[in-house]
Amino acid sequence: MEMSNKVAFGDAGVMRFRSLGGWVERPLDLQPELKGHEHADVIVVGGGFAGLSAALELAARGASVILLEQEFCGFGASGRNAGYLLGSMGIEFELFVKRVGLEQARQFVSLYDVGVTYVEGRFNALGIECDYNPSGIIRAAVHPRQEKRLRANMQLGEKLGSSTRFVDAAEMRARGIPPAFLFGSEQRGGTLNPGKYVGALRRAALKAGVRVYERTPLLSYSEGPVITCKTALGSATAPVMLLATNAYTPQLGLLRNKVAPIRVSAIETQPLSAKQLASLDWKGREGLVTPHFTMESHRLTAHDTMVLTTKQLNYVYGSKTPNIPDHNAYAALAQGLRERFPMLQGLGIQHCWSGYISAAYDALPVVGTTGAKQNIFYSAGCSGHGLASQSLMGALLAAQISGEAPALLKAMQHKTPSMLPEPFQWCAMKSALATAKLLDSWTNKKVRKDNVLNG
Ligand SMILES: Cc1cc2nc3c(=O)[nH]c(=O)nc-3n(C[C@H](O)[C@H](O)[C@H](O)COP(=O)(O)OP(=O)(O)OC[C@H]3O[C@@H](n4cnc5c(N)ncnc54)[C@H](O)[C@@H]3O)c2cc1C
Repeated sequence: MEMSNKVAFGDAGVMRFRSLGGWVERPLDLQPELKGHEHADVIVVGGGFAGLSAALELAARGASVILLEQEFCGFGASGRNAGYLLGSMGIEFELFVKRVGLEQARQFVSLYDVGVTYVEGRFNALGIECDYNPSGIIRAAVHPRQEKRLRANMQLGEKLGSSTRFVDAAEMRARGIPPAFLFGSEQRGGTLNPGKYVGALRRAALKAGVRVYERTPLLSYSEGPVITCKTALGSATAPVMLLATNAYTPQLGLLRNKVAPIRVSAIETQPLSAKQLASLDWKGREGLVTPHFTMESHRLTAHDTMVLTTKQLNYVYGSKTPNIPDHNAYAALAQGLRERFPMLQGLGIQHCWSGYISAAYDALPVVGTTGAKQNIFYSAGCSGHGLASQSLMGALLAAQISGEAPALLKAMQHKTPSMLPEPFQWCAMKSALATAKLLDSWTNKKVRKDNVLNG
């Protein structure tokens, strides 16, 4: 049973905390725990977009694959995200350029954009039905002072090959984008139900013969030409292992100095009534994100609810990833709902959840090999934009493991800056998040003031 409890969040009302996120249930065909000993060509650890994509692509090339998942496939961020299939528009161009220069930054931009095409291609190839609405995604300003940053970002993006289009106020209104969102930049992509997407990947993997073991955390592994993975009741061996454990990887004793898990939270409203939908008149149902330092995301789902995410991030001391509520984040999201959608006053919030992404200090993806024989592959990072990019990363890693040399993967090579040891890491993360919050609260205050002045 999914662990849930009702929690009151001040003016946010009462909502139910879902420990599994808003989009997934524990599967009825939960796969068995690994018992005894198994051998395969490749062991994939982690059943999210990256792990499942890799397992599927490896199986398609004829490899025998074991997938170990600590809970069930989709338990991590892949079953908890906002469902934006978004390319390079969401990434931090400036950070990328500062770190690796224009030329290599172009390659990273391309990874995110190719990722969108890759995922759309998988929908067709695997017959995946996940409520995908290729509406485009708009990074939409809520105050005129956000225009400078938005346009600067668009300009730098253009130089790097990230194609976006400015959407002016007249077009925003003509398309029925809710009036709190003034103008924006738009990129191809769309919104989907991530629970259905990750569930379809899981079913495809099972159909392709991947031996999936659920409720089977990897406890430890040994390095060498043959890697041995130890679990509670068994073990598995293979000449190659792929750690697709993303934000959970530091807990395995790896990448602790390269990535930090960051908690991202979400709320989902009750379904909107026909009258409420009509009052919105949001015809294209475009996925909206804002140009805040910590962006807000606002979208409608295929089942007529609204999902809001991000806005307030968190870091837990020691790179831990407890599956617990984040009350302040839910309250901030609820306030965002009331402020950005005043026409929906009274709309209830049914539940809330949190999940973990991983980020490096330079916000670039962290992908590579480790181990005495360099036969342990890993993929993390991609910050909060892994739906497209981690799906593609899984495929690229599968190609590399199969002896191909994907150019895009080679282009990802760079030195990730080292994370600080605790307690300095905690101090650095908390101050960075607090600074972003402060800068964003200035913008939000100005929006409120202008709204009062304009009646
Ligand atoms: C609230 C929220 C909103 C987001 N919104 C978006 C969005 O709209 N668009 C977007 O592109 N990205 C979004 N993201 C980010 C995106 O979800 C992630 O980047 C992506 O899902 C990462 O996929 P993954 O396969 O690398 O990791 P995960 O999905 O986290 O998968 C890792 C898996 O490893 C398993 N695991 C961990 N440790 C072990 C172990 N020891 N043994 C066995 N298994 C283990 C976990 O249970 C998990 O299933 C969001 C994330 C969150 C949390």
